Amino acid sequence: MEHHHGHHGKAVNPKDVAELKDQLTEKTLHGHDHAMPSGGDQPPAHGEHGHDHHAMMIDDFRKRFWISLLLSLPVIVISPMVQDILGYRLDIPYNMYIAFVLSSIIFFYGGWPFLTGLKDELKKGSPGMMTLIAIAISVAYLYSTAIVFGLEGMDFFWELATLIVIMLLGHWIEMKSVLGASRALELLVSLMPAEAHVIQDGETVNIRIDALQKNDLILVKPGEKVPADGLIEEGESYINESMLTGESKPVQKIKDSKVIGGSINGNGSLKIRVQGTGEDSYLNKVINLVQEAQKTKSDTQHLADKAARWLTYVALIAGFATFGVWLLLGAELSFALERMVTVMVISCPHALGLAVPLVVAISTAISAKNGLLIRNRTAFENSRKITTIIFDKTGTLTQGSHQLARIISFLPAYPEKELLRLAAGVEQNSEHYISQGILKRVKADNIIIPTAENFNYLPGKGLEGTVEGKSVKVVGPNYISEFGIQVPKSDAEEGVDTVVYILIDNAVAGFISLKDQIRPESAEAIAILKNNGIKNLLLTGDNDRVAKSVSDALKMDGFLANVLPHQKQEKIKELQAKGEFVAMTGDGVNDAPALAQADVGIAVGSGTDVAAETADIILVNSNPKDIASLILFGKATYRKMIQNIIWATAYNVISLPLAAGVLYNQGIMVSPAIGAALMSMSTVIVALNAQLLRKQLNHN
Ligand code: ADP
Ligand code: MG
Repeated sequence: MEHHHGHHGKAVNPKDVAELKDQLTEKTLHGHDHAMPSGGDQPPAHGEHGHDHHAMMIDDFRKRFWISLLLSLPVIVISPMVQDILGYRLDIPYNMYIAFVLSSIIFFYGGWPFLTGLKDELKKGSPGMMTLIAIAISVAYLYSTAIVFGLEGMDFFWELATLIVIMLLGHWIEMKSVLGASRALELLVSLMPAEAHVIQDGETVNIRIDALQKNDLILVKPGEKVPADGLIEEGESYINESMLTGESKPVQKIKDSKVIGGSINGNGSLKIRVQGTGEDSYLNKVINLVQEAQKTKSDTQHLADKAARWLTYVALIAGFATFGVWLLLGAELSFALERMVTVMVISCPHALGLAVPLVVAISTAISAKNGLLIRNRTAFENSRKITTIIFDKTGTLTQGSHQLARIISFLPAYPEKELLRLAAGVEQNSEHYISQGILKRVKADNIIIPTAENFNYLPGKGLEGTVEGKSVKVVGPNYISEFGIQVPKSDAEEGVDTVVYILIDNAVAGFISLKDQIRPESAEAIAILKNNGIKNLLLTGDNDRVAKSVSDALKMDGFLANVLPHQKQEKIKELQAKGEFVAMTGDGVNDAPALAQADVGIAVGSGTDVAAETADIILVNSNPKDIASLILFGKATYRKMIQNIIWATAYNVISLPLAAGVLYNQGIMVSPAIGAALMSMSTVIVALNAQLLRKQLNHN
């Protein structure tokens, strides 16, 4: 496919290879310089460069590994020490010189990535694993070389050779698994098709998607991928959005429905008016969010970084100390050096360095695929601490599918239809569920909506504006009680519907009641949270009766009605003062202060407008079960990180003294090559453990 840019054929610059560790741990996993379309003119279809680049690095490591392996075989076979151990005798003239020449090639060619890595780390002033490996192999090489040229003692060329070979193998395998982790994000990018069928003057032309413009009319045939965000102008279909939002069932789309670029069309043929392409597309916004999230470091990550830095110093000091102690104990120089080399190799905090980033890469990418967008990773990892979760009612626990139930007029001057018309004048300026419910009815009744001037939105209370010279307010109970307005007694106060009053020139002219429905998944979500020991509260700006009916139906722990947005925030503060760790779910616009106040703020129901959100976590689908999955997955992610950190640290704590030769008297000794194998294995185990996280987010 056209994604290939032919990097494989190019000569590899060793400098590139030296940066490899960084590339993979720092940049890929944290998102810098990664080949996602964050640059201005790069459409998603081109986002594969980095993948190729990394693939090329892996190739390079593989080549170095195989060549070094081949060269090390004769070094091993002719080594007098190996001959002693295995009990055979090969009399090869100048065998020491042959070993020297071959080992030199292995040292400079196979060891090159580590040597340049040392240089880079020192330049940055932060000695790390490359420094450790490089010092270890350089010491082994220089000492053995000195022996060739006359120093008394035993060379360890064969050990040097195997050490390098195993290190190369370890890095090669590890890089492959790291690449696997970063690929999850690239999978998102690859969702975009390469081409779109544009309808121009009645004809369909195929163009590349980066040439697609806003307001183009495009044709999407059955089974094809949707190439851009847009609105359906013609046709109906079921669209599979599971890769984008995690919604497992295909979603029905009719005229005027929104479609997302990257989703897969079902059986219908669709004509779509393009709204967002490239940078503005939903998919691109998601990718940017994920990248941002991967770039920022959570508290857990800082902890792991700190531990890795300390362990590097410990390893360096332990290496030199081991050397000194053995010499003082009267050991031979070669033995002391070998212990030092092994200690440095085995105590590379390599696994620790990868322990958290790998989990992060996998966790954020899987979450995004399931419609859970994590912006603040510390908050996400903190979901394990949540003791209370506060739910906004409308659109979170309920569907927000407000159906107009009744219109009652109190003033003969404004009959029902006129009330509806004037209310619609102000309501057309709002996106609230109540507005949508009212406007649906107005459209169905073919009422022509007048324009409103001086429009004003009163958060948690309602709307006001001037329509045809009259002051029109559509407001809920909060407004009514705030101004002590007397409303005529009516049966509106008995039902469980949402009620808004219409005030015309400050006289209560009537009310509209709307029915909403509890989401079928809400009860299960609440039950899951309860089972996990998390208290749940309903906070709503709606009236008591609605709040109580929802709270009772879902068997929630409690509710508070008639709450204004700022009161939601105060309620959270109050709970926090009591020592609760509070999560808040709500719509990002209305509930922004409360979302910000909460320890974990979860925005729900923003649909495809993810960039506008300021919450810690955004749920693309307004499915309350996602909230439960999210919290459980946050816990699982944190657990994985801790498992990895503990494993990687414990491994070092145990292997370091062994390598130093503490148990030498008991006959337990680790050779440099075995040390390298153990060290590589610990890293691979950390990588595999991180991969297991994939199984943890069982969705729906
Ligand atoms: P919730 O806390 O349930 O999400 P909101 O804070 O969105 O509710 O709204 C609280 C109350 O404010 C609503 O129940 C309603 O009485 C009033 N209100 C909000 N938006 C509108 C609107 N567009 N039209 C009329 N009333 C509104
Ligand atoms: Mg709300």
